[in-house]
Amino acid sequence: MTKESDYDVIVVGGGFAGMYALYRLRNQGHSVRVLEAGSDVGGTWFWNRYPGARCDVPSLEYSYGFSKELEQEWDWPEVFSAQPDILRYANHVADRFDLRRDIQFNTRVVGVTYLETQNLWQLRTEDNAVLTSRFCVMATGCLSVPNKPDLPGADSFTGRVLHTGSWPNEPVSLSGQRVGIIGTGSSGVQAIPELAREAEHLTVFQRTPVYTVPANRNRMRPAVQDEFREHYPQIREMQRNNFGGVSGFQPVKSVAHKSTGEPRPSLPKDILSLTHAERVALVEDRSLAVLLAFPGIYSDPQANEAANEAYREGVRRLVNDPATAEKLLPKTYGLGCKRQVLDRDYYATFNRDNVTLVDLMEDPIVSIQPTGVETGSGLRQLDVLVYATGFDAMTGALLRAGIKGRGGETLNNKWRHGPAAYLGLQISGFPNLFTVTGPGSPSVLCNMLVAIEQHVDWIVDCISYLEENGIDSIEPLPEAEEQWVNHVNEVARGTMYTAPTCNSWYLGANIEGKPRIFMPYVGGLPRYRERCEEIVMQGYAGFELKPARARSANQSKN
Ligand code: NAP
Repeated sequence: MTKESDYDVIVVGGGFAGMYALYRLRNQGHSVRVLEAGSDVGGTWFWNRYPGARCDVPSLEYSYGFSKELEQEWDWPEVFSAQPDILRYANHVADRFDLRRDIQFNTRVVGVTYLETQNLWQLRTEDNAVLTSRFCVMATGCLSVPNKPDLPGADSFTGRVLHTGSWPNEPVSLSGQRVGIIGTGSSGVQAIPELAREAEHLTVFQRTPVYTVPANRNRMRPAVQDEFREHYPQIREMQRNNFGGVSGFQPVKSVAHKSTGEPRPSLPKDILSLTHAERVALVEDRSLAVLLAFPGIYSDPQANEAANEAYREGVRRLVNDPATAEKLLPKTYGLGCKRQVLDRDYYATFNRDNVTLVDLMEDPIVSIQPTGVETGSGLRQLDVLVYATGFDAMTGALLRAGIKGRGGETLNNKWRHGPAAYLGLQISGFPNLFTVTGPGSPSVLCNMLVAIEQHVDWIVDCISYLEENGIDSIEPLPEAEEQWVNHVNEVARGTMYTAPTCNSWYLGANIEGKPRIFMPYVGGLPRYRERCEEIVMQGYAGFELKPARARSANQSKN
């Protein structure tokens, strides 16, 4: 590459996507700089350190597949790992592949501008440093901009304010404290049991009740881990061919000698073939999670409501106080509309004497006061207020980066009616800028590590192709981008995700004023991956590739 820029590639973000991009780009001989706002690697797992944070994908699957040695040497202590273990893994990867020397920490990017005449990207950091590169890879994460609602008087609170999505690095002691938490999504549901164990009193401010099912709490069995290690090549292939990027590999040897007692009878295929009483009995016998095993509940509204009803009955049996139980029942939307939440002891927590549930639908927040939260029924005195109010998902980090493309058009303007990107990889009008797991890709509907590796591989191979073929820039054709956006919308139509009763962050519905568009690609990883590969085979169909000569000629005309 020419040395007209500081770097060949600048990667924004040092989470799992940025780390892998650095590894691959460096191996391809490119000069790379990663700019990361945090003080260390890990992205999501660096910021979300709240008590109870853990992954909802099994760790043997939620791990990098690019290095056989890494797969063989890393031990996961639990089947579904907690945040500290995942962050430890990220740190191990950074050390093992000597990544930190090319990562600039504590560096927030506030401007990303395309310098048209030079065909370069110029990145400006918060402290006004300026760096240039030929290519820019936005590895900024899908859930990286915490959403803090603008509640009246919020700044007047004199106690400690925390957000689950930017939890402090140092330990937070809540012992003897009156803690309030706003939000009952995945983060809130994970944090609530832990906070209740530590705080003197916990007040949960719930706006919309959640569907949550018990998480797998098993320690990792070494024999299972060994069997995974033995079969990793096959498992990675299974992941790539699985809708959600999870292999579902069943260890055979290690499970064979474990089973005790009679095998459970298998479930009928259709939940509607059971009576309500049978469904409830099933839930009592096997937990709320059993309802998710009926595939029809995600496509048939009647089956969905049957499952929702059984779920509600199951919750009534878990929560001692009937009035509290009633408040906890999700009634305005169905299972499958939002990302499924997994918990440890969520409902049991509401049986504790030191926990109060405030249903904001009947007792809304009026204001935040210096000493607590005032709802319609009065002031709740607090020492600590925790926001578990989610993220400006998928587009938030990209829109905050101050991206300006050709002709000075801002990404914010281009996306004013909602995000439009080709394959979630590139945006028309923004040549040589790539997004990892951007809107229109399977991203958050997929095992993120598998989605990230697929995207990064595509991007790095693309950059190599451009170089090898003397091509200066790549950018989607507007019509290809539009067709892809239409396709993304089409496959989402009619699913539970886009049901009229469904309001989720997938749709941008959690952020006031955000255009309501279903952002991830719901067609599944294999279909998506095949399309990405086909496009490459067809010489990057739908992209405009400009040879170096074309740009020079255009410039001399201007
Ligand atoms: P979330 O699912 O968006 O939940 C945010 C919660 O805050 C909701 O209960 C929401 O209520 C509430 N809220 C927002 N604004 C409010 C307001 N003004 N007043 C009162 N309540 C308000 O966010 P999250 O829990 O952080 O989870 C986001 C995603 O991160 C998850 O879906 C998941 O993909 C990922 N995540 C995964 C894990 C895991 O792997 N286990 C853990 C944490 C997060 P409404 O529903 O009424 O808007």
